[in-house]
Amino acid sequence: MKKPKFKAPNNPTSLAKQIFALAFPHQSWPRYWKVEWQAKCGCFWGWCDYQRKTIVLFHDVAPHHDVLETLIHEMVHMINAGWGLKHGKEFERLVVAAYRRVLGED
Ligand SMILES: [Zn+2]
Repeated sequence: MKKPKFKAPNNPTSLAKQIFALAFPHQSWPRYWKVEWQAKCGCFWGWCDYQRKTIVLFHDVAPHHDVLETLIHEMVHMINAGWGLKHGKEFERLVVAAYRRVLGED
């Protein structure tokens, strides 16, 4: 039996842009970037595809993980793409600060 092809439940880009405005109030959404759902990866919660200027969220893990945190994590990659910011203390600090701003805990 053929498995049904994955159909994304929505286009999350416009919602992601609203979240971005709260998370990073002094920056603007980088040109041409979008956010999309893909069925599954098996290795990551999300993925930042610099070539396609796309943040990919994996739908299979979404119920088991904080999608907002994943999205903000990938946004930090997105806006620091040119600077080569790697995972680490500074990266985490940016994610946590942005997450708090979105939740209004700032
Ligand atoms: Zn990462």
